[in-house]
Amino acid sequence: MKMLDARACLEEEIVGICLENGIKKYRANQVFGWVQQKAAHDWEEMKNVGKDDREKLSSVLFIQPLEMVKEESSQDGTLKFLFRLADGESIETVLMNYENYTTRDRHTICVSTQVGCPVGCSFCATGMEGFKRNLTTGEITGQVLEIVHLIRQRDPDFGVTNIVFMGMGEPFLNYDAVMKAITLLNNEKGQNIGMRRMTISTSGVVPKIIKLAEDNPQVGLAVSLHSARDKVRDSLVPMNRKFPLEKLMEACKLYSSKTGRRVTFEVALQNNNTHQEEAQAIVKLLKGMLAHVNLIPVNPVSESIHRPARDKIIMFKKILEAAKISVSVREEKGIDIDAACGQLRQRLECERYESVNQS
Ligand code: SAH
Ligand code: SF4
Repeated sequence: MKMLDARACLEEEIVGICLENGIKKYRANQVFGWVQQKAAHDWEEMKNVGKDDREKLSSVLFIQPLEMVKEESSQDGTLKFLFRLADGESIETVLMNYENYTTRDRHTICVSTQVGCPVGCSFCATGMEGFKRNLTTGEITGQVLEIVHLIRQRDPDFGVTNIVFMGMGEPFLNYDAVMKAITLLNNEKGQNIGMRRMTISTSGVVPKIIKLAEDNPQVGLAVSLHSARDKVRDSLVPMNRKFPLEKLMEACKLYSSKTGRRVTFEVALQNNNTHQEEAQAIVKLLKGMLAHVNLIPVNPVSESIHRPARDKIIMFKKILEAAKISVSVREEKGIDIDAACGQLRQRLECERYESVNQS
C-alpha cells in the first residue's frame, strides 16, 4: 500500500486513516497536533499516543524531515537554510528578522515551491538553473516545520507569524500543492498562521491569480512586475509573453475588487529598468488602483546584472510618490549571505562540482 506523507495530511484525512485502521477518532487530533504544531520528527515523540496506535499509523503514514545541509546567519538577523530533499535535490528557505530584537515578534519565513523554476527570469539565480520539479505539499509545510523544530531547541516560545511564497520557484505553477500547504499552515491546531499573513508572489500566471481571487481571497498577492512596458517586461520576465500586462492587470484588478486588498508590485531595480520612462509607465499602469510598489535594488547574481546607483533609485521612488502611489524601497535581506533566491543552492552545486572535479 502507498504510504502517505503525514506533513501533507489535513486533519480530516488523518481521521479517515485512523478509522480505517481501527484507531479512535480523537487520536487524529493528537497526531495532527504533533505533526503540524509540534513539528515532530518521529512517531516516538508522540508520548500521549499509545505504542500500538503509533505502530499502526507508522505503517500507513510517514514523517520525512528535511535534512538541513547548511545554515547561514546574516548581520541583519536573517537566517538562511539549505535543505536536502529525499531524492537528493536541495532547496532554500529563509527566516527573516530572527535575531533582530526590535522585530522579534514578527517571524517571517520565505518558502520555496519548486526545485528550480521554468519561468527563467533574466536576473534570477533560480531561473538560470532551469526547472527540476514541483515540491510536494509535505516539502512545503516541511520547510516551516523544520525551522520551527530547529529554532524551538534554542527558543522554546518560537512561533512563525508570516509566510511569504517568495523562495525558489513559481508558486502558481504548483497551485494545488501550495494551496493545500496554506490550508495546513492556517489550521489553528497547527502553526495557526492567519490567511492574511501569507502572501504568494507570482511572475504573473494570470489564470491562477483569478483562481486565487475566487478560491481564497484572504491570501495576500504580490506580483513581480519589474517593468510596466511589455517590451521590457518580455525580456525580464518571459511569463509576460504568455500573459502580457493588459491581461495581468485585469486579473490583479479582479483580485482587488474581490478582496478589497491592495496588490503589492515588486520591481527589482537594475541597469535596464531604472529610468524615468520606466517609472512613468508604472505610474500610468497603477494609477487609481489599490496597489503598493516595492522597489528592490537587484541582487547582482551575474556579471551582466548591475545594481543602479542610489540617486537613480531615489529619483525612481520620487516619481511614484509624486503620483501618490504607495511605494517603499526594500533593503534586500541577508545580502552578506546571498539571500537572493537561488544563490545558496547555486553555491552548493558549485562546491559539489568543484569537489567532484578535484577528486
Ligand atoms: N516566482 C515567484 C516567487 C519567487 S521569486 C516570483 O517571481 O514572483 C521572489 C522575488 O524575488 C520575485 O519578485 C523575483 O523577481 C525576485 N528576484 C529574483 N531574483 C532577484 C535578484 N537577483 N534580485 C532581486 N530580486 C530578485
Ligand atoms: Fe522563477 Fe520567480 Fe525566479 Fe522568475 S523570479 S525565474 S518566476 S523564481
